[in-house]
Amino acid sequence: KAGGRNTHRVFCPDVGARIATRGQLVLDMKEGIRRGEFRLVYQPVVDAASGAVVSLEALMRWRHPVRGEVSPGEFIPLAEENGLIVPLGAWALREACREALTWPETLRVGVNVSAVQFRGGLEEAVLSALADTGLPACRLKLEVTESVLMQDGDAVVACLHRLRSLGVLVALDDFGTGYSSLSYLRRFPFDKIKIDRSFIRDIADPDAAAIVRAVVSIGERLGMGIVAEGVETAEQLELVRREGCAQVQGFLFSRPLSPLDARAYIMAAQAQH
Ligand code: C2E
Ligand code: MG
Ligand code: MG
Ligand code: MG
Repeated sequence: KAGGRNTHRVFCPDVGARIATRGQLVLDMKEGIRRGEFRLVYQPVVDAASGAVVSLEALMRWRHPVRGEVSPGEFIPLAEENGLIVPLGAWALREACREALTWPETLRVGVNVSAVQFRGGLEEAVLSALADTGLPACRLKLEVTESVLMQDGDAVVACLHRLRSLGVLVALDDFGTGYSSLSYLRRFPFDKIKIDRSFIRDIADPDAAAIVRAVVSIGERLGMGIVAEGVETAEQLELVRREGCAQVQGFLFSRPLSPLDARAYIMAAQAQH
């Protein structure tokens, strides 16, 4: 009725409910940051030939007091939309650097960063995380996706160069899923290319295998190491090895682990190598 006469609105309870839920989730996220509901888990990245751990990727988790675990696929895009990813991301950087200090010195920590964080002072966040924890810059690896370079590409590239000159490593994440993946390889000298899980899932298919092989060869020419993401089976491992991927990550080796379990994993793997 408030809409006046001669108009009608279609009320779709589904959409309304979804918007309300998202709005509530944003409020809950703010509260959750304050209450320390966010945490990081760590997934090992291993040498494809030896199985030795080479680094661990920090992945964010949120346990909502009522809804339980909320997937990063849900809360990260929401945090990007409303800017909460800036404080959350700064917290993650610091936390990951602090945790990496408890590992052997040879191990790096990978931290995912979003485009919004570059506009929100990522460089300062990285510098203060390193300075406050004392982690050497060369033990930190930032993981960016192609979408980060799509927006404000020049500013992002300049920022990455400055961090790179301090010794921070940079990986291109989810490679092959963007609109013009190859062109991004010319924009920045990434240390690593992480081939998206979708290619690894289908690697038994000769076409997917051919693409992985081509990316490995491009990486070699450009001096960029290759990581295969999402290796779940021994067969997939065998095939990505055959195509020349130097490093692998996936459930076959380990799911993302709590800080305590990650330390145990590192110790056990060290005892074997
Ligand atoms: P990502 O950076 O590509 O991380 C890899 C994702 O693949 C993780 O999902 C991981 O749990 C999952 N994964 C690893 N191995 C396997 C496997 O063998 N099989 C399958 N099916 N999945 C596997 P997760 O933790 O749900 O994270 C999803 C995405 O959320 C990440 O993708 C990343 O883009 C984003 N994200 C997570 N943590 C952060 C963070 O701290 N900051 C930012 N900006 N983004 C984050
Ligand atoms: Mg990643
Ligand atoms: Mg990825
Ligand atoms: Mg991803």
